[in-house]
Amino acid sequence: MPGGVNSPARAFGAVGGSPLFIDRAEGPYLYDIDGNRYVDYIGSWGPMILGHRPPQVIEAIERAIAKGTSFGAPTEAESQLAEQIIDAVPSIEKVRLVNSGTEATMSAVRVARGATGRNKIIKFSGNYHGHVDSLLVSAGSAAATLGVPDSPGVTPGAGQDTIVLNYNDVSAVQNVFDQHPGEIAAVILEPVVGNMGCVPPTQTFLETLRATTLKDGAILIFDEVMTGFRLALGGAQERFGVVPDMTTLGKIVGGGLPLGAYGGRADIMDNVLPAGKVFQAGTLSGNPVAVAAGSATLSCLAEDPPYEYLDQMGDRLATGLSAAASKHGVPHQVQHVGSMLTLFFNEHPVSNWPQADQSDRDAFGRYFWGLIEKGIYMPCSQFEALFFSTLHTPAIIDQTVAAAEEVLGN
Ligand code: PMP
Repeated sequence: MPGGVNSPARAFGAVGGSPLFIDRAEGPYLYDIDGNRYVDYIGSWGPMILGHRPPQVIEAIERAIAKGTSFGAPTEAESQLAEQIIDAVPSIEKVRLVNSGTEATMSAVRVARGATGRNKIIKFSGNYHGHVDSLLVSAGSAAATLGVPDSPGVTPGAGQDTIVLNYNDVSAVQNVFDQHPGEIAAVILEPVVGNMGCVPPTQTFLETLRATTLKDGAILIFDEVMTGFRLALGGAQERFGVVPDMTTLGKIVGGGLPLGAYGGRADIMDNVLPAGKVFQAGTLSGNPVAVAAGSATLSCLAEDPPYEYLDQMGDRLATGLSAAASKHGVPHQVQHVGSMLTLFFNEHPVSNWPQADQSDRDAFGRYFWGLIEKGIYMPCSQFEALFFSTLHTPAIIDQTVAAAEEVLGN
């Protein structure tokens, strides 16, 4: 495998050294092949909001597998998951299930272009939307970490209709719409960024995007692959009270199996084949095992919403980490929304990619490895948000803070 991995961030390229090889996981813990236990703050990069192996989800998967693993035909279960998504996410009136977050954003952009008959899209630097050619321009996540914002193999043509702006820059957005009236098909963004570390939006930024796109007839796409079902059942759009035209989902919606989704206003989604003419398809789309895992996960979240608890634990972790860093005179910013959090080794607040880029990567690397030695597994890059689950107890959070305090003091 190139670099020894099937997805680049896993190779620990940003922090040096060899990655842990994971054998199994249970609740808030990961176990490596040498038998070491770690508190897991990655949660498979987002999906495992209920912790690992939640009984309701495992049982649902087992019941689905007993009936067959793939039919390539409609099922009742996929309709049920579609209903659950539509009930939860304010902007989604119709939805299509796909296999990954990348497929969701790729398809949403195509539908937005097809529906508007326009070509240009606006994205924000440091926002990652999967490895879609037209979106792999100034992307965050591993692309930011490894310093390859623009990948070889992406043709100039694929990127030429992508306009890249700084996150939270309200006047830049207005200027572009002034310069290109009626030409922008879509604005796509992470409504809370996880892929340059955790960077919240300003309320004004989200509201300006909503007002400007409405006025111009452009489609506003919230990429809620990370934030969907994590910041609220209805995602960041519920939390911030700003409803886009389209939404992309991944991670939690598949309950730890490969599943993504995109949806939005019915009149926009009716452009998708066979209702409309925009092509999008998938052999394994709506796979019954993935649907069972996603559906069971969403049921757990809807029946017993954990968001207040996750917010409290997020505050507890943020306050604790910040106090620990302050105690040792470490310049830092702890930025978090609910159960997404980043400790930036940065003197100044981070509201966009150029500011995030000023962070001290070496200090982050020392912090990361110090925590590994203490049995705590954080994302292996300054530019990834950590996630925790409903099974991260106050005691686990406090233990993490205590470990961080020791590491930061060294
Ligand atoms: N959008 C966002 C906001 C993401 O965080 C990710 C993955 N980290 C993606 C899209 C792509 O999802 P996937 O890796 O499932 O293709």
